[in-house]
Amino acid sequence: MISIGIDVGSVAAKAAAYDGEKIIATAILPTGWSPKAVGEQLLAEILHKTRTPKEKVKSIVGTGYGRVSLSFIDKNITEITCHGKGAYYLDPKIRTVIDIGGQDSKVIKLDEGGQVVDFLMNDKCAAGTGRFLQVMANALAVDVGDLSRLATGAEPANISSMCTVFAESEVVSLVAEGSSKETIASGLLHSVCNKTYSLASKIGVEDKVFFSGGVSRNQKLGELLSHKLGTEVISSKESQYLGAIGAAIIGYR
Ligand code: ADP
Repeated sequence: MISIGIDVGSVAAKAAAYDGEKIIATAILPTGWSPKAVGEQLLAEILHKTRTPKEKVKSIVGTGYGRVSLSFIDKNITEITCHGKGAYYLDPKIRTVIDIGGQDSKVIKLDEGGQVVDFLMNDKCAAGTGRFLQVMANALAVDVGDLSRLATGAEPANISSMCTVFAESEVVSLVAEGSSKETIASGLLHSVCNKTYSLASKIGVEDKVFFSGGVSRNQKLGELLSHKLGTEVISSKESQYLGAIGAAIIGYR
């Protein structure tokens, strides 16, 4: 028997399958216009990947903003709880999760059993989220996945606006003035780092710190956060799947 977690985020939908001991498969698709349709596609993909007939699925748990649109799930659970469970599975010593996704960022504090003790979320403004980086990458005519490499070793250009719209204008002006893409990319990552730091400072950060969400794929940002927080910030290749992993584990139990 397996359980399946499906996390329909604002930008990307993720799924994970759990066999009672470990995560045996993951899948990811752009969310697109229909959370329900992408959820069904992910379910089909994960059943195919694990070669599991439907009757061998113990439960399906949905999470993420699109979870309420998934008609085929057994239960829906908030992202915060699922992130906590996912983090505990990856490393029970994790006490703080910093999650930066497509349209929000959150800091979650966990106890030694992986239970959420506190959290803080920015979902009011695109600053400091994946959306911010995507808009800026477009303005620089680069892929969002290139920002880390570009920023590595570059002095940060000063980007003073936190607001995505104003910061985009600043980037356009910096390009026109001849600033390099490298210094601008570095300035942008410093801006996201500062925004995340101020969110994290409000709630306090305890070791170990895990960086999750799609933006955690930006390695340079992880390094900047480590430096700013004065503690090691770890991540893993499964970090974008944290919510789906937690949902699958909760479903099994
Ligand atoms: P959500 O759950 O809100 O859909 P995710 O946690 O799946 O969000 O993350 C999606 C975000 O991750 C997108 O905004 C995308 O720009 C960002 N992202 C993906 N890959 C990278 C990368 N290599 N560097 C920085 N950001 C990235």
